Amino acid sequence: MTDSSKYYKMEGDKLIRTNRTCPKCGPSVFMADHYDRSSCGRCGYTVFKRKGKSTSTRTRRRSPRKRSKSK
Ligand SMILES: [Zn+2]
Repeated sequence: MTDSSKYYKMEGDKLIRTNRTCPKCGPSVFMADHYDRSSCGRCGYTVFKRKGKSTSTRTRRRSPRKRSKSK
């Protein structure tokens, strides 16, 4: 007998999933919940939780072209 009710929480008439499921293994495999990520113990799939700020590391500044007029 598997008690899967602990993965769900009833709030009013809504069923809330308390754990994430692995997109690779299917909805029957739940992912371990960590404070900053959720990882699947079966396939190792890890999804990081989003924080408020999204720090993009793709802000590379293009160095402006300097017109060097050689006299
Ligand atoms: Zn998985």
